[in-house]
Amino acid sequence: MSLITLEHGRTAYALDFLAIAAAGTGLGAIAIVAGGETGASPGWTVALALGGLLAWTLIEYTLHRFVLHGLQPFRRWHTLHHQRPGARIYAPTWLSGSLVVVGVLLPLWLYVDLHVAAAVGFGVVAGNMAYSVTHHVAHHSPLRTSAATGDGSKASIWHRRVHEWHGLHHGTSRATAQFGVSTRLWDCVFGTERARPLRRRYRPAS
Ligand SMILES: [Zn+2]
Ligand SMILES: [Zn+2]
Repeated sequence: MSLITLEHGRTAYALDFLAIAAAGTGLGAIAIVAGGETGASPGWTVALALGGLLAWTLIEYTLHRFVLHGLQPFRRWHTLHHQRPGARIYAPTWLSGSLVVVGVLLPLWLYVDLHVAAAVGFGVVAGNMAYSVTHHVAHHSPLRTSAATGDGSKASIWHRRVHEWHGLHHGTSRATAQFGVSTRLWDCVFGTERARPLRRRYRPAS
């Protein structure tokens, strides 16, 4: 059996969410305990976590735009997701988790300290969870449509926006826009933002 299994069953998919939640909880606990031992202020711990969260959003944008849409074999793997957006196709969590350990946790632990590594790591993992939930909603949580308008107006604004934003990415023929999933921040910064204000399109029928 290959270690790189791209299409996942329902159970493995649910377990991946649990694994991310467990990793985040563990890192949060370590950050609090290590922060207490080193005398770090709670404000500093929160700032480090927010820094990790912001770093995640840039990692997410960069990986999606330049690796998943630019570099083989990742590009070929990601094309499968674009061809079958309803299937649970994604890089295995052991692989993304190892990248976070090797690329974020270990360098910070070795060159700074455990508290900084755990607090920043908590932010990165929280961002990964935000990405996972948002991508799940975009593909596996259909909009509840109103019988009167048929336009998804019974769904929450966030739910509709997630569908709109990620739909724009999947909808462009060569996927040249809307690379951010959990946030549009870096699309705005790097000029790949295509979404229009939602209010114009979801005005309630009168
Ligand atoms: Zn894509
Ligand atoms: Zn997608």
